[in-house]
Amino acid sequence: MMPCITRILVLFLALCLAGSATEARAENKVKVIASFSILGDMVKNVGGDRVAVTTLVGPNGDAHVYQPTPAAAKAVGGANLVVVNGLGFEGWMDRLIQTSGYKGPIVVASRGIKPREMTTEEEEEHGAKHEPKIDPHAWQNLSNGRIYVENIAKGLSSVDPAGAAIYKANTDAYEAKLADLDQWVKAEFAAIPEAKHRMITSHDALGYFGAAYGITILSSMGVSTESEPSAGDIARLIKQIRGEKITAVFIENVTDPRLMEQVAKESGATLGGELYSDALSNPGEAAPTYIDMFKNNVTKIVAAMRKGL
Ligand code: ZN
Repeated sequence: MMPCITRILVLFLALCLAGSATEARAENKVKVIASFSILGDMVKNVGGDRVAVTTLVGPNGDAHVYQPTPAAAKAVGGANLVVVNGLGFEGWMDRLIQTSGYKGPIVVASRGIKPREMTTEEEEEHGAKHEPKIDPHAWQNLSNGRIYVENIAKGLSSVDPAGAAIYKANTDAYEAKLADLDQWVKAEFAAIPEAKHRMITSHDALGYFGAAYGITILSSMGVSTESEPSAGDIARLIKQIRGEKITAVFIENVTDPRLMEQVAKESGATLGGELYSDALSNPGEAAPTYIDMFKNNVTKIVAAMRKGL
């Protein structure tokens, strides 16, 4: 009789342990806050099952004008790791960190990239003091994307050393995919005459993209979506499109499409479709991942450039 009870007890204890182990696994996931959707996707690729990612500015959201909610502060307060872009992209983050009481490490994903400085034409025209602005959209160059991924892996390994080998393996696999994608992007543009490597976007989010892949990019707004372009800005852009014979203009998922529709109509250029610049799409749409974002953007840009051949 005793052995039987013992067996039952052992079984019961084993079940308890199994149950608590499952709970512990869920509880023990590294809680990561990513400031916006592109970083959220990168963290998922590096962290896999060991991490639970919360993205503050979600799909199709505009991080330039985001206003943190009390729920966001609560999520940040309970996190093990916070991942931001840096380069002035998340102007709201310092205050959010303060409000949340978060004291843990912060990964600046862009650390180590070569920042792109820019001055707006308007500043030059008005003789404003020459203060170069840093372009925050560094993820639009896949080589930078690989630096982002490495910074994220380092951050995850520092808060979860037991997972370091897994993060390393995930990072290697993901970086290999990004390297292949980079080769594909370069091959796609190499097949188009250089004179056609020109395009227009609504806000200046593709500066790193243009520099990396040899594309001249004009835009109607500056590096942020915060300020609306003036009538003069738009008139100048239309003149430029006609003068430089640019055949296609693009809208972005984070900006109001009406402006570029107007620019296309008045300049005679065609609308080349929607690009994903500062945010991914929802699942099931054109760009739910960082890799899909590049595939979507490059396919649309190349198609528009080919139209003008
Ligand atoms: Zn932007």
